[in-house]
Amino acid sequence: MELTILGYWGGYPSKNEGTTSYLLESDSFHLWLDAGSASLIALENHVDPMDIDAVLISHYHHDHVADLGVFQFTRQLRGIGEKRVPIVPIYGHAEDEENFKRLTMERVSKGIPYQEGETFSVGPFEIETMKTLHPVPCFAFRITEVKTGKILIFTADSGYLESFISFSNEADVILCDTNFFRGMENHRVHMTAVEAGRIAKRAHAKKLVLTHLPQNGDLELLKAQAMEEFESHSVILAKKDLTITI
Ligand SMILES: [Zn+2]
Ligand SMILES: [Zn+2]
Repeated sequence: MELTILGYWGGYPSKNEGTTSYLLESDSFHLWLDAGSASLIALENHVDPMDIDAVLISHYHHDHVADLGVFQFTRQLRGIGEKRVPIVPIYGHAEDEENFKRLTMERVSKGIPYQEGETFSVGPFEIETMKTLHPVPCFAFRITEVKTGKILIFTADSGYLESFISFSNEADVILCDTNFFRGMENHRVHMTAVEAGRIAKRAHAKKLVLTHLPQNGDLELLKAQAMEEFESHSVILAKKDLTITI
């Protein structure tokens, strides 16, 4: 499978680049993972939004869903003149009823609820959920490409939880919330580079991608702090338009 980073800033867009969003492709199936600010424009550089097969949303903070409405409008308005496009499934949790309802738009999209701890199938992927530590209900995903057994972990937004270690066991890639530098450990909203590195090491992951990055501070220092924990493996800073083959 191929993972492309569309946006990676934490909280708000900056320097012409957007917030959390990824494209995951396998066998011409296109899964859009979170729809942060400025991500629809970034998505268009890689795939036509009309060709998105499913959307998966971790939680309803603005920096993860800002472009969902304009994505629905794109499918609705272009769908009038173009070939009929199928109703796109948008997977999200239903613990926030008001936001969950917005996933459904007549003839355009349908919200499909997932539950805590559930495993479900989306196209070529099997997806397991884990509730994270965050001020609003938020879910991490363990995404397995069924035909290869390759594993992508997306921590979504979270403070550090020991349960990330078993959840991320033997992952090929961990996309880890790394919003803070060393010294902010045990925060209740986001993780530090040290905690990201610790999870990757203890889970025996192959690759760690630091994402949901802070706008202030030296990102090379952030990376170095993660590498102190996860020294023998590769640590990558998320970067717009970077594609990683998993
Ligand atoms: Zn966020
Ligand atoms: Zn959040």
